[in-house]
Amino acid sequence: MIIYGTRSAHLHSVQKTTPICPNCEEKGSLLISVYRKHAHIFWIPIFPLGKSGASHCKNCKQALRSSEMPEHLKHEYQKIKKEVKGPIWQFSGMFIALFVLVFAGFASQNNKKLEQEYLNQPMAGDIYEYRVANKQFSTMKVIEVDTDSVFIALNDFEISKASRIYKIDKPENYPDVVYGFSKQEITAMYSSGKIFDINRE
Ligand SMILES: [Zn+2]
Repeated sequence: MIIYGTRSAHLHSVQKTTPICPNCEEKGSLLISVYRKHAHIFWIPIFPLGKSGASHCKNCKQALRSSEMPEHLKHEYQKIKKEVKGPIWQFSGMFIALFVLVFAGFASQNNKKLEQEYLNQPMAGDIYEYRVANKQFSTMKVIEVDTDSVFIALNDFEISKASRIYKIDKPENYPDVVYGFSKQEITAMYSSGKIFDINRE
């Protein structure tokens, strides 16, 4: 279950000397407050939604929302509202999302760089994940490497989900039969996307 909704943050309160309370007619007894609403998910503020306000009389205790204020009071409230800025923490969720995106971007870039290294300098034991056919995936294991060639054993098993491919990557699934590929052929398979991941212990 996702808990979400809106909450208000108190921004500022000002006790003004000129306005007269519409209820008890005391002068200078009104405290005018400005709030800003924000959307939240699990109480983490995501983005601000707009300001609202209220007045509170210290003399007669009457509280009025901005929509209930008489004209002269509303005018005072509008002035304060214009000047008051909301806090940056009401954008927290956006910052978190941005941070996660940037981090994921770096991680993926780093992974691509490693794969390129593995591709250029293959080693016995490297596992290539590859597409066998439409929605069938399997692995190849590098058994031996010489100057221009890579000798590979093909996994006996296939799986229909690329994310589950680790389940078939077991030593007993690789037969003793080994096929030789040139390093260019392997690079071509990687470039075309037939080989889509390279793992090294
Ligand atoms: Zn009053």
